[in-house]
Amino acid sequence: MAATGQSTPAQMRLVLVGPPASGKGTQAAILRTRFSVPQVSTGDMLRAARRDGTALGKEAERYMNAGQLVPDETVIGLVDERLGLADALNGFILDGFPRTVPQAEALNRVLAAHGHELDHVVQIDVPRELLVERATLRRTDKRTGHIYHLKYNPPPPDADLEHRADDREETVIARLNQYDAMTAALLPYYAARNLLRRVDGVGPAEQVTERLLQAINA
Ligand code: AMP
Repeated sequence: MAATGQSTPAQMRLVLVGPPASGKGTQAAILRTRFSVPQVSTGDMLRAARRDGTALGKEAERYMNAGQLVPDETVIGLVDERLGLADALNGFILDGFPRTVPQAEALNRVLAAHGHELDHVVQIDVPRELLVERATLRRTDKRTGHIYHLKYNPPPPDADLEHRADDREETVIARLNQYDAMTAALLPYYAARNLLRRVDGVGPAEQVTERLLQAINA
């Protein structure tokens, strides 16, 4: 392909893995724009299905409310359908999927059916103490949706602040434990296939993006 710089359509099939408050959502949004590929988040898709009250949404709701994983079959069906849409032809940033080895295997099959394969799996590393601090000091302005951090990015005095229920310390620790349990099998699966890249997630978002692009040679 000719090296035409920014206008060259990028092919980028990427899985982003990172614990809660690792900055994964921020990085996914940056990469989505950079590569002109959709960000596919199973959490967002399931929440939309739940909001719309579809049969799938109702089934998923039971698991989501209990903090459990939705059955593989259900999420795999969603991802299969989503990656078959035209806007995902040149690639995607997957966020929140796969979470299990059977899901990772299913993803391989879905991609292979279109003659594609995964390019990279990027894990964003942040020390646990910092994750807890980031989440517990994170506040959202209810009126603007803007996210602040009481220590690193303090809100203006007139902000109408809200602390997300799942950003409280006990919940954050439970979510981190869940993340560790989930990745215990998934990351070695991708490391064995030479797809896993690890990126230091400490520092300003732009710096993390630079490391990420380096890790995937983009
Ligand atoms: P998230 O926004 O990624 O934290 O996902 C919210 C909830 O949706 C999770 O707690 C699960 O119940 C469900 N979920 C999202 N992605 C998956 C997945 N890949 N496998 C199973 N359940 C999922």
